[in-house]
Amino acid sequence: MKHRSEAQELAFIGMAKRGAQRTSGVIPAEELIAEAIRRHGDKLVVSWSGGRCSTVVLFMALKIDPNIKAFFNDMGGAEMPETIRFVRETAPKYHINLTIVTPEQTIWEVFRKYGYPKPRRVADPARGIKAERTPKCCDLIKEKPLIKAKREAGIEAELTGLRASEAHVRMMSAAQKGMFYFHKKHRVWRYNPIIFWTTRETVDFIKNNDIPDNPAYLKYDLDRTGCWPCTAYRGWQENMARINPKFYTYLTKQLGPQRILEHFYQTRVAPCSERG
Ligand code: SF4
Repeated sequence: MKHRSEAQELAFIGMAKRGAQRTSGVIPAEELIAEAIRRHGDKLVVSWSGGRCSTVVLFMALKIDPNIKAFFNDMGGAEMPETIRFVRETAPKYHINLTIVTPEQTIWEVFRKYGYPKPRRVADPARGIKAERTPKCCDLIKEKPLIKAKREAGIEAELTGLRASEAHVRMMSAAQKGMFYFHKKHRVWRYNPIIFWTTRETVDFIKNNDIPDNPAYLKYDLDRTGCWPCTAYRGWQENMARINPKFYTYLTKQLGPQRILEHFYQTRVAPCSERG
């Protein structure tokens, strides 16, 4: 399932770039990475999800600083097995200074307590709409463990592979804050060097620079990797049915046709902002 056409991606990127002109401006990826390394030295980390985007950023950063730290969150059992294998094999092969972060609870424990995640509503102050809270699993499985790991390691800045064209919330964030900003919740400076790249640019960069590629993309014909049991983004049904058809059938029965329909309409409106 392809989430957006290239024309749609370019429209998102155009809006984000226009906004960013008022803050950071538009800085070439390598230049921004070099600047982040210069400013933060060994207090800088690459938030590596094992997906293509953060892998591109990691390999760009490794060229400048071969000792740069990378943090990978195993997501309490929600990561695709292909991603876990990819990270575990790639790290020693390229001598990556890797820390694997593990949440205190599994994704299944969180789902049992709080239910399956719904997409976040995007804030629209002009219409008096407030942003919906982060899904509980994103908070407990994705964000808190990484915040804790960064605090304990004395990290003051991170490089991410976020891209504006992946989600409306990311586009809005790039338009308002630019390519780097202080992230209040994570208490670190966040640098997004490829925020204005399209999917095609990312894939081409991997091919042209001989960067290892997570096999899950080709195996399941995915645009994005991340938590495979996620029900909070556009197209989750199609992806989950391909990645784990048995679980998809189970979930369909568990949620019932009404819930599946609700999820379907909700995920057409506002995909989850934080899916990696
Ligand atoms: S990406 Fe989806 S499943 Fe994973 S933590 Fe966020 S909302 Fe939950």
